[in-house]
Amino acid sequence: MNNKSILASAQLWTGNTDTVTEKIHSALQTLFCPNNSCGSCTSCRNIQYHEHYATMWLEPEKSTYTVEQLDMVFEKISLQLDDNEHFFFIIQRADALGQTCSNKLLKPIEEPPPGYHFILATEHKHRLLTTIKSRCLEFSFSSTNEHPSYSALLNLLTSPRQISPVEFLQELDKAKLNEYESGDLLEQFYSFLSKQYLHNATQETQKKLAVVEQAMLKTPMPGSSSLFWKNLLLSL
Ligand SMILES: [Zn+2]
Repeated sequence: MNNKSILASAQLWTGNTDTVTEKIHSALQTLFCPNNSCGSCTSCRNIQYHEHYATMWLEPEKSTYTVEQLDMVFEKISLQLDDNEHFFFIIQRADALGQTCSNKLLKPIEEPPPGYHFILATEHKHRLLTTIKSRCLEFSFSSTNEHPSYSALLNLLTSPRQISPVEFLQELDKAKLNEYESGDLLEQFYSFLSKQYLHNATQETQKKLAVVEQAMLKTPMPGSSSLFWKNLLLSL
């Protein structure tokens, strides 16, 4: 990762939390460490412990962020930075922003004052508002492809032959996807269909896209993955 990318004003880092956190540490260390991201100087250590003066790490207080939590952000960005000074807000578990906090952040994320950067981190990209996602430069460290049963499911969905709901549900049962993973799978399926449609705009693909788009609006509730996929496959 080069410095240019960590200096984008709005960034979305997706993937396993530990991996993403580590990647953010190392990108910030590359930027701030005077010794070529040594890992042991004060700068490097402060970044590691989330105590670096040029960073503010946020995480949801309970299950979601509160508007009050964002006050610190607004207070900070009201202060003008010196030329060449940089400050990073790292919004961990950005999927927990919810509608209200997301909307409050839209403006600063789109047009932060000079020197301010927003890093949104999440394992569940599909839960973020599209308006937020579309404003961010994305860095993906997705490990979902390493999940063997997960790829099997995606292969079934994207196979050129008719999807057999029975076969799919058996595979789904083995994979034991939670509702978040189901959402990720759905998102990958959607992206596959979009590409297919760009390549060859058939009515069939268009219909499938519409079905998946609808499904993405109401991703499965905990424990209801099977039913969710069954209904989806039957309407494809
Ligand atoms: Zn260092």
